[in-house]
Amino acid sequence: MELDRTDVEILRALQEDSRRSFRDLAHRVGVSVPTISARVATLEQLGILSGYHASIEPERLGQTSLLLVVRCEPPKADPVGETVAAFPEVRWAARVRGAKVIAEAVLPRQEQVDGFLAKVEEIEGVLDYEHHITTRRLKDVPRAMITDRLSTTLICFQCRRVIEGEPIKLKMDGRDHYLCCASCEKLYTEKYQKLMAGAKRDPGAQSNRS
Ligand SMILES: [Zn+2]
Repeated sequence: MELDRTDVEILRALQEDSRRSFRDLAHRVGVSVPTISARVATLEQLGILSGYHASIEPERLGQTSLLLVVRCEPPKADPVGETVAAFPEVRWAARVRGAKVIAEAVLPRQEQVDGFLAKVEEIEGVLDYEHHITTRRLKDVPRAMITDRLSTTLICFQCRRVIEGEPIKLKMDGRDHYLCCASCEKLYTEKYQKLMAGAKRDPGAQSNRS
């Protein structure tokens, strides 16, 4: 699915500053506040907008950041990658070609580096690894490149799987909802109606961003 100009502008503005209010976004993008609220909800449900984070500089807190390159036994590279990614010290991890995993970890204190590396070494399927302590962070910017033409695969709002073929598109509360099959449609509609009924009883429970 191609994202339209409104979606692209919302993503651009939020990636620059995720604290922007719906009112500010509406003003920037040139649409109404309810449109922003509906579009943001859809972008979240499509898994495109996956979070709103503060950027905290580990170096300013005296913490140690290191880059890891882990070489794995080829059939074990995926599980090794998942184990590395699950460590709380790891900021991001990626599987790359050649049965390798690359990751960045941040440790509160320099003395913890050896203990962390020992944990990596113990993972089953690790052949060897290199680590590089960061001496200066040169660039660390938001993740996606927001270009004028962006497209995405649709994921089912109920089961969260990629929709193969024609999606079932429902229009509720002035926005689009995508489902993969009739049974997901039924479950989702029931859940959604319950949610809406609850929101009407208790308007304070609705999003306080406006
Ligand atoms: Zn589904």
